[in-house]
This record gives sequence, structure tokens and C-alpha cells, in this order.
Amino acid sequence: MSKPLTFDPYEIRKDFPILSRKNRGKPLVYLDNAATSQKPQMVIDAVKEYYECNNSNVHRGVYELAEDAENLYRDSRQKIANWLGVGSEEIIFTRGATEGLNMIARSFAEPILKPGNQIILTEMEHHANIVPWQMVAQSTGAEIRVVPVLDDGSLDREILSQFLANPQSTILALCHVSNVLGTVNPVKEIIEEAHSHGVKVILDGAQSVPHLKLDLRNIGCDFFVFSGHKLFAPMGIGVVFAKKELLPDMVPYQGGGDMIDQVSFSGTTYASGVQRFEAGTPNVSGAVGLGAAIKYLENIDFPKVDTHEKSLLKTTRELLSDLRGLTEHGTTPNKAGVFCFTVAGVHPHDLATLLDAEGVATRTGHHCCQPLMQKIGYPATARASFSFYNTEQDVQTFADSLKRAVKLLL
Ligand code: PMP
Repeated sequence: MSKPLTFDPYEIRKDFPILSRKNRGKPLVYLDNAATSQKPQMVIDAVKEYYECNNSNVHRGVYELAEDAENLYRDSRQKIANWLGVGSEEIIFTRGATEGLNMIARSFAEPILKPGNQIILTEMEHHANIVPWQMVAQSTGAEIRVVPVLDDGSLDREILSQFLANPQSTILALCHVSNVLGTVNPVKEIIEEAHSHGVKVILDGAQSVPHLKLDLRNIGCDFFVFSGHKLFAPMGIGVVFAKKELLPDMVPYQGGGDMIDQVSFSGTTYASGVQRFEAGTPNVSGAVGLGAAIKYLENIDFPKVDTHEKSLLKTTRELLSDLRGLTEHGTTPNKAGVFCFTVAGVHPHDLATLLDAEGVATRTGHHCCQPLMQKIGYPATARASFSFYNTEQDVQTFADSLKRAVKLLL
């Protein structure tokens, strides 16, 4: 019988050894989860055990050890597929969301794009979902159209609809959740509209997987990418989901071992399925760690995660309501637990430095979203981003430290 699902941030914290370390001599308050998440003991143990007991190169080995590594690698792919509600034959391992988006741009988009075709992006995209598209636009003669962000941080749906209705529109690449504004885009609705115009949709899920339990079939996207390290797994492993029916038309992104069928100097044929996109020795320990992270998450009551993170956001706002000059960037009603802010007259880097001295880890800068910064009119902002292991106490410490910092700086 499976264990009942649980959710208690104070209990969850105990599974994350790093959360008991100090930062500048103060208890660590880790509020930089949008940059990377911390790892539960279960993930750390799985990676350690892999290297202690099961390490071997995958594919082709006939000995038991190689089979064990292969089985672990395969099991992880299956766990990820189950978690996302898709087939394991649709899951490609990558280094992360960035590599995934580059792969889709090169393997799927570049071969089909013609001069004048349109690639639709939005103003809230991370550089990882902008630059690969600029590269393929340059190589194919396709054009980029950018959907504006409105004052509250939502997308201008009217303009998006106009772009989608253009017969030249071919691809829409957008984030599920913004790493700056916290906006949760209504992707199911947008995808249905895009598909009604024959536009394929690539969803950047880097910021949605850690907060929401997703069913990709129901969402309907053609591609979905995320990075393991934001989902409590190691760095250097990520995933592309590609709809099965789109895989045969995609060209390999990299050539090398493991992605071939036959190689000769007169010509090479490629492996079928997802293997065609996994050239070279894969990050097996990373995949095993990601599988372990998903196993960990299977015991967490996910709808409560969302409620908890939203409640942390609400408390943050309440505690900071009397802070003069504070502006929160991104105020859509259903936003994720990302609090991006500026304080008039104070440089965000100075704030982050003073917060750090009190043990509070936040992030400042352009958050790899320079076009969005240009839009909102700030070169840099500060950001506190929450995870399920953050507590009301963390938020209280953050708010108190921030107020002290502003007092010192103004
Ligand atoms: N997209 C979004 C929305 C992100 O927040 C990030 C990471 N900050 C990325 C893509 C890129 O992820 P990675 O650096 O792990 O490849």
C-alpha cells in the first residue's frame, strides 16, 4: 500500500541537509529557488549509490554492472514520463532547459522554417527561449514576433491572437511560468488557439515543474523542456518532451556515438526514436538523480505546494505593505511564488548584499530576461523565489532584513 501524501514544510525541510547550514554565520534562508533548487537526501543518496554500486557506461555493455546502469537509466526515463503523463519514447535527456530549447530550434524548427515564416515569442521569455530562435531565424529567413506583456505581467492576448492568425505563423515558444513576474500563462487555452491555426507550441517549463503537477497530454503542447536542477535533482540533466508523431521529422542535433544505426564513410544512418537525439555518453548519474527526485515528489501533496507557496507570497506582501518605495513586478492574481521587486532609490545589488549578511539568499540582476527588464524600465530587480521547504519564518526573516537594509541604504 502506498504511503499517504504529505505536506508539511517543516517536515520537508528535514529532508534537505543544506538547509541547516549557515550563510555568513546566520541560519540560511534560501529564497533563490527560481535559480536552482536544493536537493533532498534521497537524491544525494541515489547519486552516491549510483557511483558506489552501479557506475558503468550505458548501451552496449553485456556485463551485469552495465545492465544495472542501463536499467537505472531506463527506469528514470520511465519515471519522468509517468510524472508528466506521457510516453517514455517521448522523453529525450539533455543537459537542461537551455540545451532542450536549442535542440528543438535546430532539430525541429530549422528544417521546416521558410523565409517569411513567423516565430512567436513573448516579452517575458528567458534568454534561453530567445537566442536559439534568433539563431534559427537568421539561418532560415524566418521572422520573430514578440507578444507584449501588460502592466500586471500577463500576456497581451489580443496581440497574441493576431499573431497566431497570421498564415505565416509557424511556431510559438513561450514560458509556462515567468521566472521574473511569476505569471502562470494560461497555456492550455493558448495552445488550443495556436493549434487551431496550425502553429506548433514549445513550452518552456523550467519554472512550472517545481510548483505544479503537470499532465502534458492535457496541456497539449508539442514540446516541453525543463532542467533537473530546478526540480530538486542534480545540475547537468534536463528533459525535452517531444510528441511522438513529431520525432521522425526531426533531424539530429549532434552527431556521434549512440545516435547512429550504421556508420560508414559512404554514409551514416541514424538510430530511431529519442536515441537519435542523445549523442555520446549521457549523464547517467544525473538521470538517476532526477528519477530519485521524482520518486521523492511522488510522496508530496502537490496541490498543497501551490497553495503553500502562494500563501508565502501573500505573507510577504502583507509584511512589506508599509515599506515605502516598494514595487512588486508581476501582480497577476494566480502568480507563482516569485516576488520580484525594486525599492525606489536603492540599488538591488546593495539590497542583496545586506540581505546576504543576514543569511538571506536572494537574486538580483536581469534574471536572463534583458528584454523584459527593458520593458519594465529597470536594468535590474531583486527577486525572492519560494519553494515548498520555505516557511513563514523564512518570509518573516526576509521581510525584517529587507526593511533594515532599506533603512540603512536610504
Ligand atoms: N527558462 C526559464 C524560464 C528559466 O528560468 C531558466 C533558468 N533560469 C531557463 C529557461 C534556463 O535553464 P537552464 O539554465 O537550467 O538551462
